[in-house]
Amino acid sequence: MSKIHLLPPEIIARIAAGEVIERPAYAVKELLENSIDAVSTAITIQIVDAGLTKITVIDNGDGMDKEDLLESFRPHTTSKIIGDTLHSIKTLGFRGEALSSIAAISNMTIASRIKYAETGIQVTLTAGVFMQVSPIGMPPGTVVTVENLFYTVPARKKFLKSTRTEFRHIVDLVTHYALSHPHIHFTLTHNKKIILDLTATTDTLERVKSLLGNHTFTNLIPVKYQDGYVKLSGFVGKPQLATYTLDKHYLFVNKRKVGDRLISQAIKESYGNLLESTAYPIAIIFLEMPFEMVDVNVHPRKEQIAIHEGKVVYDTLSKAVSQTLTDHNLTFHNASWKEDFSEGVGRKGNMGAFAPQLLRESVTPWTISQEKDFFVDQVFQINNLYIVAQSSKGLFIVDQHAAHERILYEQYEDEYRKQQKIIATKHLKKGVLLDLSIADFQVVQENLKLFTNLGFLLEEFGTNKFMISAVPQLFENRNIEVLIQEIIDDIRDERVKNIDNRAKRMLSYLACRSAIMAGDPLTQAEGKNLIEKLQTCQLLYTCPHGRPTMIELKATELDKWFKRS
Ligand code: ADP
Ligand code: MG
Repeated sequence: MSKIHLLPPEIIARIAAGEVIERPAYAVKELLENSIDAVSTAITIQIVDAGLTKITVIDNGDGMDKEDLLESFRPHTTSKIIGDTLHSIKTLGFRGEALSSIAAISNMTIASRIKYAETGIQVTLTAGVFMQVSPIGMPPGTVVTVENLFYTVPARKKFLKSTRTEFRHIVDLVTHYALSHPHIHFTLTHNKKIILDLTATTDTLERVKSLLGNHTFTNLIPVKYQDGYVKLSGFVGKPQLATYTLDKHYLFVNKRKVGDRLISQAIKESYGNLLESTAYPIAIIFLEMPFEMVDVNVHPRKEQIAIHEGKVVYDTLSKAVSQTLTDHNLTFHNASWKEDFSEGVGRKGNMGAFAPQLLRESVTPWTISQEKDFFVDQVFQINNLYIVAQSSKGLFIVDQHAAHERILYEQYEDEYRKQQKIIATKHLKKGVLLDLSIADFQVVQENLKLFTNLGFLLEEFGTNKFMISAVPQLFENRNIEVLIQEIIDDIRDERVKNIDNRAKRMLSYLACRSAIMAGDPLTQAEGKNLIEKLQTCQLLYTCPHGRPTMIELKATELDKWFKRS
């Protein structure tokens, strides 16, 4: 008897759906794209428990008549491709699989009414199986309700992150589509709380401001360029808005959200050394080109695209961004570390940022010292960076920044452990108003306790704003907005899961930012003091990022070099 047999269709559908709809945000994305394709001017997205309990998307678009409605949730049914025109897709959807996929792994209701119909029609489905159809009173448009997402594929849920993170993905997604479609009124609620309510506008800038906050808004530079078929518009951020993730690259090709590394790279490269190697500028870029130039059918979630003659497009983009930066007197320059840090706004030389890069380079060409017995009666500083001291077996070269980072980190960690709070909080004479993007506002809100424990005092202050009235003392003279933004970026980095690790990361971050820098001249006494303190550390051989704090050169090695042994 043969062992191979065809799976029942509902199982095939669930397996396929589980692959496409990996997380609630992807279901929201599909529903949102359908509403946009239906030429809606108002879209409301209601989310319950990050979409796991319920997702409702209400639009005022074209709607469907009964016949279309009964087709819409079947696999591979679409109104968007007629004949074989897969090469020039103008709509966001085209595969005809979203509704059927989501339906297969949830309980779905679709209600729709076309403008000229007297009533709407509603269908209900359970795990993709049609249950009933009935008339329903409703305004023109479509309402799709998805309940108990993933209940037919419970294993999927195990791969999900926390409710907050999953919801943040939804916010990011809505932010993207709201940026590329300012003429649509978007409303987003989570557990009945209004997260955003953006009235329609013809002005993209106004949309940018309400989504990304005033601070970002005031530091954006408009970009506009046209070269042959390719039209480019949007905004790039001044270097001080740089982040260490690609989260703030809002890229669109023909209004479709895309995650395109090559586009991101082209933008980054235009900044040259205005940014350190691991930082990315903020960018909101709308590329428009003939639909035939774009193949949108290259990724299961339609997140990546292939551009014909992509090289030309990337070059155009690079050129446009470089020109824009030059026009704004932002050209490549070699700023010294000190200059950056004294201003408190520059980011070059941020050890926290390039440590990961160093860590990735797995070779360690140095011998990390295991010795504690320095003689500190005499120390030397070299290049305002290294301190050389003698030991019983030879000599040590200490990196002053890394060493100080280690010392401060252990001190902060100790204080944090003992009292869950860094004691020295400084109340600011004048509060600083923090105007955040919706997504970043959520991050701060979720981590408020952590900020408090670290010595910040933040209070909600109107829509997407916080008032900062106190900061850890060591930061009283820093640019607080930049500081908090950096911490937010760090928290958003999903590799750090538990709160304890998060706190430790923030502590190491605070240590890095408050440690003496490379380039700071030290007196004899300061140099000695640093080394003495380092000796009392528990993990004195590396900084919190894993870089060595010192290397040892044994006299026996010197002897070999000088051919004495
Ligand atoms: P696709 O979007 O790829 O065509 P979907 O499964 O997402 O496939 O939707 C199937 C069809 O259902 C669409 O082609 C469209 O005709 C119809 N449809 C889905 N959502 C809506 C909506 N919100 N308003 C109007 N029509 C819709
Ligand atoms: Mg669709």
